[in-house]
Amino acid sequence: MSSESIAREVKRRRTFAIISHPDAGKSTMTEALALHARMISEAGAVHGKGGRRSTVSDWMEMEKARGISVSSTALQFNYTPTGPDGESPAPDEPNVINLVDTPGHSDFSEDTYRVLTAVDAAVMLIDAAKGLEPQTLKLFQVCRHRGIPVITVINKWDRPGQSPLELIDEITERIGLIPTPLYVPVGIAGDYRGLLDRRTGKFIKFTRTAGGSTIAPEEILSPEAALESEGDAWTAAVEESELLGEMGQDHDQEMFLAGQTSPMIFTSAMLNFGVRQLLEALVEYAPAPAGRTGIDGTERAVTDPFSAVVFKVQAGMDSSHRDRLAYMRIVSGEFERGMVVTHAQTGKPFATKYAQAVFGRDRSTVDTAYPGDVVGLVNAMALAPGDTLFIDPKIQYPPIPSFAPEHFSALRVTTADKYKQFRKAIDQLDAEGVVQVLRNDLRGDASPVLAAVGPMQFEVVTARMKAEFNVDTVIEPLGFSLARRTDEASAPELTKQRGVEVFTRSDGAILALFSDKWRLQFIEKEFPSLELAPLVAAA
Ligand code: GDP
Repeated sequence: MSSESIAREVKRRRTFAIISHPDAGKSTMTEALALHARMISEAGAVHGKGGRRSTVSDWMEMEKARGISVSSTALQFNYTPTGPDGESPAPDEPNVINLVDTPGHSDFSEDTYRVLTAVDAAVMLIDAAKGLEPQTLKLFQVCRHRGIPVITVINKWDRPGQSPLELIDEITERIGLIPTPLYVPVGIAGDYRGLLDRRTGKFIKFTRTAGGSTIAPEEILSPEAALESEGDAWTAAVEESELLGEMGQDHDQEMFLAGQTSPMIFTSAMLNFGVRQLLEALVEYAPAPAGRTGIDGTERAVTDPFSAVVFKVQAGMDSSHRDRLAYMRIVSGEFERGMVVTHAQTGKPFATKYAQAVFGRDRSTVDTAYPGDVVGLVNAMALAPGDTLFIDPKIQYPPIPSFAPEHFSALRVTTADKYKQFRKAIDQLDAEGVVQVLRNDLRGDASPVLAAVGPMQFEVVTARMKAEFNVDTVIEPLGFSLARRTDEASAPELTKQRGVEVFTRSDGAILALFSDKWRLQFIEKEFPSLELAPLVAAA
C-alpha cells in the first residue's frame, strides 16, 4: 500500500479510552457509542448488571461475580460525522473509532496504565452528582503524565447533580485542567432538555425514547425558537455560555493538545443524550495516530514500515477460546494478517496468522489494520507488555514502566503433586504482567512472593491457577508495605535488618521490601551508602 493510502487511513482514525470511577457510566456510554455507530440496533444488549444481561466486555467469572471489568478489550466502529446540525454532507469515508476498554477497579491500575500507552486521547467520564472521584483523579494523573489530551464528559445529566459552573470550578481547582465546554446544557441536572451549541448558538433539543434504548431524536432550533420553546432554561444557558466566553473558556485546539484545557460535554449515556456530540468532538478534536520514537532515538512515522507495541497480554478469558492473546497497538505501516514480523526483544520471527479483533466474547478475524488499531494475536506465548513487533528496519519502543507494588503475599501450592503445573502457571502469569513475581533463596522456588499494586490482583492469580491449571493455591499476606530497588552490594546488609527482606524479580531487578516507611527511613539514615531507589509510583 502506498504511503498516501496509509496516511489517509491514519487521518480518519481516532483511538481513545474512557477513564472513570466505577459506576460513572462507562459501560453504558460504551454501549451508547456503539448504538450511535449503528453497531447494535438496541441498547440493553451490552449494559446492565446485577441480574440483568451481562456486558459484552465482562468475561471472567470474577468480573461477573463482582460486576467489575478486569480485562481490556478494544471496540472498533465506523462513524460518519454529521456536523453541528446533524446534517452535514457525509465525507467520502467514515471515521474509524477505536475504543480501548480500561479495567474499572483501582486494583488494576497497572493494566489501565498499559492501556493508556495505546491511546491518543482519553474521555474523562464524570458522574454529574459526584464530581471528581478518586479513580478518575488517579487515571487523570496518568493521562497528564503521558501527555494524553482529555475530553471531559459530565454524565447522568438526566439526574439531579451539581451545576455546570460548580463542576467546572471543581475540575479547574483540583486538577488544574481548564474545561472549555463545547455545549452548555439546557435545563439543570435532572431536567435535561438539550444542549446549547456554543459554536453555532443553536439549540439541540433531545427527545426521550422508550427506556433510552434507541438513538434519541434531535431537533435543531434557532435561538429565537429555543427561547420560545424553553423560556428561562434557555436564557440561563445563554448567560452561562457568555460567562464562559468572558472567562476565556472557549475551545482552543493547541491548549487542548498540550493538556491544558479540556473540551467538555454533558451527556446522559442512559438516555443517549449528547452521545453524538461526543463522537463529533472526538472526530473533530482528538488527534489522529502519530509516529513514535524508538529507544535509540529513531523516529518512526506512521507511514513507515509496520511496527506495533504490545500493551496487554491475556490468557484463558473464555473457556471456548483457551489460549493466550497479546494485544498490540499498531504504530506505523499497514498490518496484513499472515505477515511475519520480528519480535524486537528476542529478534525472533513472529507469524501473525491468527490476528483477531476482540471485544468481550466476540472475536473476528482481522485481515488488515492501520496505525491506531488494536489487534489481538492468538497464541502469543513469547510476547509481553511493552514489547515491540516490527518489519525491517528495526525499531524498539521504550518499555512500559511497571508500578511500585504496595501489596506483598506469599503464594503457596496446596496440592502436593502439582508443582510442575504450578511452576508453569506462575511463569505464564508473570509474563502476562498479572502480578510481579519475586524470589529468594530463603523461600525457594516453591513459594514465590507476589507483588501487586492492588490486592485483587492476587485473587486473579488464585482464580486462574485453579481454572486454567487446576492447581490449588493459597495467598498468605506478608507484613511488607513498600519496595525499593537495590543492588548486589547492598543486599547483604539489608538482609540482616529486621523488617526487611531482599528478593530478585523475574526481570532481574533486586528489590528490598520494608515493613513500613519508618523502617525504611531508619535504614536510610543508619546506612546512607546503601542503594535504595524508589520504583515508579502508581500515578
Ligand atoms: P460503569 O461502572 O462506569 O461501567 O457504570 P455503568 O455503565 O455500569 O453504570 C452504572 C449505573 O449508572 C447503572 O445502573 C447505569 O444504568 C447508570 N447510568 C449510567 N449512565 C447513566 C445516565 O446517564 N443516567 C442515569 N440516570 N443513570 C446512568
